[in-house]
Amino acid sequence: MKQDVIIVGGGLAGLSAAVYLHRQGRKVLVLEASERAGGRIKTDSHDGFLLDRGFQVLLTAYPETKALLNYNALNLKKMLPGATVLYDGGSFEIADPLRRPSAALATLFAPVGTLKDKLNTLWLKNKLQKLTIKEIFEQPEQTTSKQLEDYGFSPKMIQRFYAPFLSGIFLENELNTSRRMFDFVMKMFSDGDVAVPALGMEEIPKQLVAMLPEGSIQYNTKVVSIDGNTVTTADGNVVETNQILLATTANNLTQQFFPKQKMTSHQVTNIYFVANETPTKKAVVILNASTKKKWVNNLTVMSNVSNAYAPKGKVLISVSYNGITTVDDATLAENIKQELKQWYGQKVTSWKMLKAYRIEYALPSQESVRNEIDASEIKISDSLFICGDHLLNGSINAALKTGRLAAELMKL
Ligand SMILES: Cc1cc2nc3c(=O)[nH]c(=O)nc-3n(C[C@H](O)[C@H](O)[C@H](O)COP(=O)(O)OP(=O)(O)OC[C@H]3O[C@@H](n4cnc5c(N)ncnc54)[C@H](O)[C@@H]3O)c2cc1C
Repeated sequence: MKQDVIIVGGGLAGLSAAVYLHRQGRKVLVLEASERAGGRIKTDSHDGFLLDRGFQVLLTAYPETKALLNYNALNLKKMLPGATVLYDGGSFEIADPLRRPSAALATLFAPVGTLKDKLNTLWLKNKLQKLTIKEIFEQPEQTTSKQLEDYGFSPKMIQRFYAPFLSGIFLENELNTSRRMFDFVMKMFSDGDVAVPALGMEEIPKQLVAMLPEGSIQYNTKVVSIDGNTVTTADGNVVETNQILLATTANNLTQQFFPKQKMTSHQVTNIYFVANETPTKKAVVILNASTKKKWVNNLTVMSNVSNAYAPKGKVLISVSYNGITTVDDATLAENIKQELKQWYGQKVTSWKMLKAYRIEYALPSQESVRNEIDASEIKISDSLFICGDHLLNGSINAALKTGRLAAELMKL
């Protein structure tokens, strides 16, 4: 039977397109290679714990999530604006005093940079609030590290705050990511909240799947080739359809039709620990700004953000290390605990490693990013279209946006 629309890939981009196409009255079939939808956003249930595959958050100011998701139904749990910073001399709190007045004094006296740095941060917040997202992405490209210097931040402010903060978001330590992404992310942090759904990040794709009629997604179905109006799956099925939307991660399949595509990516290792006692009561990201940092970029006590992440009486700690390490899990866990001992003392020795995720393709590399795209880059032919975060920038917002734009262009 000839299908109406086949979407290859059930990540956020494919699901967003499926929802918008369904709203147009189209009949969609999503072919997803893995056993469930969500792509890079997955939450595993493990012995009563909820483990997101990689520390990941929703910035509620994203225009595309505001338009498509039902935040109330996601039961979003907010994190505190700002961060706790671990440094060679101890730790301190840093927060936007306008959003977290209780931390204003601590921030003012935090050993993070000069008074000029702190005023500069407020000036930047004000500047970004006035710029539209479109204007942010029209600015000349340069690396974030150069942009931080151009904004006039001191080396200490960069080393003690911006570097560990941004490397946890960009998943790269050199801050070669485009300054457009820096400005965009800072604007999103300042215009909204940082949150996770109470039951884990996978609630986001689950909500999109629930907007589709039953049977719209076929799992464990890998597409191996696309030829004209037909797709061939790994088990040899050939399906004919009116339109095809390629919604996979940047891979060999997408490169056939989008040769300009960059295949390089940022990787991350995410390690979960269980403890009986929490190292902090706060639902806040903890940054490692030590000059000797090696195994920990940032950590968060997930059970402080949402208590559903851990069984009663247990504490779940998520630690991120940028890149993929070849050391085995047990050694990695020991190295992390050793590094964290200087702030949390002997208590960390009782932390038990639960699981380590090595994520080879977390974000497309982002030296050059955009937030607008020509129709001709989404519409490859009358019957073939493409979407995915790799077309714009590595974010939930970009994935949903490309899906929406593809659905608009696929209108008959
Ligand atoms: C660790 C980590 C942290 C992140 N942190 C954040 C964050 O804090 N905030 C934020 O906004 N973004 C974050 N992101 C980025 C965000 O998750 C992605 O931008 C977004 O999920 C990408 O969605 P996508 O649909 O474009 O791609 P994907 O999620 O990669 O989806 C592609 C889908 O296609 C399927 N597929 C691939 N090949 C085939 C095939 N041949 N046949 C059928 N199906 C196929 C895959 O199985 C997958 O389901 C993070 C990502 C990771 C991994």
